[in-house]
Amino acid sequence: MSAERSEIEQFMRGLEHRNPHEPEFHQAVQEIAESVMPWYLAHEDYRKAQILERVTEPDRIISFRVSWETDDGDIRANRAWRVQFSHALGPYKGGLRFHPTVTQSVLKFLGFEQIFKNSLTGLPMGGAKGGSNFNPKGKSEREVMRFCQSLMTELYRHIGEDVDIPAGDIGVGTREISFLFGHYMRLQNRWTGVLTGKGCSFGGSAVRMEATGYGCVYFCEHMLNHHGEGLEGKCIAISGSGNVALHAAEKAVEKGARVVTLSDSDGFVYVREGLQQEHLEFVKDLKQNRRGRISEFAENYRGAEFHEGEDPWRVTCDIALPCATQNELQENDAEALIRNGVMAVCEGANMPLTAGAARLFAAHNILHAPGKASNAGGVAVSGLELSQNAMRISWSHDEVDSLLQKIMTEIHLSCVQHGTSHGRVDYVRGANIAGFKKVADAMLAYGVF
Ligand code: GLU
Repeated sequence: MSAERSEIEQFMRGLEHRNPHEPEFHQAVQEIAESVMPWYLAHEDYRKAQILERVTEPDRIISFRVSWETDDGDIRANRAWRVQFSHALGPYKGGLRFHPTVTQSVLKFLGFEQIFKNSLTGLPMGGAKGGSNFNPKGKSEREVMRFCQSLMTELYRHIGEDVDIPAGDIGVGTREISFLFGHYMRLQNRWTGVLTGKGCSFGGSAVRMEATGYGCVYFCEHMLNHHGEGLEGKCIAISGSGNVALHAAEKAVEKGARVVTLSDSDGFVYVREGLQQEHLEFVKDLKQNRRGRISEFAENYRGAEFHEGEDPWRVTCDIALPCATQNELQENDAEALIRNGVMAVCEGANMPLTAGAARLFAAHNILHAPGKASNAGGVAVSGLELSQNAMRISWSHDEVDSLLQKIMTEIHLSCVQHGTSHGRVDYVRGANIAGFKKVADAMLAYGVF
């Protein structure tokens, strides 16, 4: 075994010992350690300062109960957390997720990833994540409102525009951010940009809603162009049907690609001719306003097939954009995609590939953009929302979109700069090293921090 490999294994054993029963967190750290450690070990300063060990230890985790009342008068209790991972580069920044799969381990992996993603944007933001195991599915609007208000009754004392600025994530959209923001103002009696993803009429930014999906397609296009390819005419399989998936589909269609799938936890829809804007508008209304299931789309459009209980990774496509959730694309899915000739995988979700799937793509030289680079557009526009709030101005759609494009171009460049060897770009390694380096340098400058 090489000296490097044994250092990585020793490091991972220590991490697992300090953080037992947190498989998602271990997976995210392992990925960083594998790319960063060989490079890190060559830097005596980082090594002496034990940066990697310190970076993997969150600054603090706030864990609290959220009690709320159902419409029938039953009292319920959920667990919620805010993982304030690192503020080395700026105030804590990251979304809130409401989903039954949320655990401390999931939020730790998301908060950890957020540190490097935010670093890659070039904006001054630290990394955090929060959320609750509350399941919004099937809840009335009033129940969701009461839950949000109860959650904010505790969370408000830990956040602030210079301290920690939450935003949305799975299960938390404009509706939930509005409930949370309204309650924060009630408690604090002041208007401040303490949350991002706000409605555009009350301090939100143009393009925030579209940013993650658009940014993912901008990144994908750079990746293809860099390798002498383009998006036009390419066949794309997308998983998910939330904010990220729909806006990625919208931008890809606008750029002349043929998007053939969308999915939710019930199954996926396949449209051989490619989804049109009209279809995407239908799914947006279905998912965001009526909170329906993707199968309903197939019932309404001829030419759309619904595949119950399956994910979209068995279809033939040039590009896969996993935009649903962590570990949704596994080894057997990667094998099927490779067999069917996929050329690029660009992550819209956070860590949607299992470690095994990522290894397979790397072994077959498939272009693979990790979420911390390719889905950074969402938090980047959150950063722009903060700037607009601080300046008490609001930029137009075109102004924000061109800044988003510039940021995605620069992230791609950083990946190329740090990930190229023997003429080949390893985007995972490039993103990890570029993101990590800034955080490590800041921590070194701060001394024992
Ligand atoms: N939840 C998004 C992410 O995973 C956005 C976070 C934010 O805007 O703060 O990056």
